[in-house]
Amino acid sequence: MDKKVLIPRERIRERVQELGVRLSEDYRGKEPVLIGILNGVVFFFVELVMAMSIPLRIDFIKASSYGSSMTSSGKIRLLKGLSLHVKNQDLILVEDIVDTGLTLKHILDNLRTQEPASIKICALIDKKERRKQPINLDYCGFTVNEGFLVGYGLDFNEQYRYLPDICVIE
Ligand code: 5GP
Repeated sequence: MDKKVLIPRERIRERVQELGVRLSEDYRGKEPVLIGILNGVVFFFVELVMAMSIPLRIDFIKASSYGSSMTSSGKIRLLKGLSLHVKNQDLILVEDIVDTGLTLKHILDNLRTQEPASIKICALIDKKERRKQPINLDYCGFTVNEGFLVGYGLDFNEQYRYLPDICVIE
């Protein structure tokens, strides 16, 4: 399959640094829990955490993904929940791509039942045009309008996660 570089590694690095600095300013004096949504988020998550300069804790959630299809089924299952207790904690939900918003809506509904003090969303990529659930991203790396993205942790059928750039499949 042909791939074209959409966002080069260096540009990603710069933008994630900026997000890390902003989060550190906004959460200074607090100790947020950063929650990564596996698996696509892993590169972004590590780079973001390492760009931050305040005390924080990390945890992960795994939701069922697209599988081998390129369109959201709308059916989301939680395969792994949180390990930490997050009641009264400030949560930052870290996601790779928000597309229809269905995955995030499901996860947000689940997290709210655990009574955190606050929940903010930090996504690497916003695909606004395909949104089905109104979800506001508090922190966002890039807005992308079309195409299926791979690389920097993002896969197509478990392939291409290792690529350092974000590429679009043609
Ligand atoms: P949503 O539920 O918002 O439609 O889908 C979000 C999830 O779908 C993302 O977390 C991501 O795993 C997957 N996804 C959406 N668009 C893309 C894409 O362009 N490339 C890849 N690899 N995954 C995508």
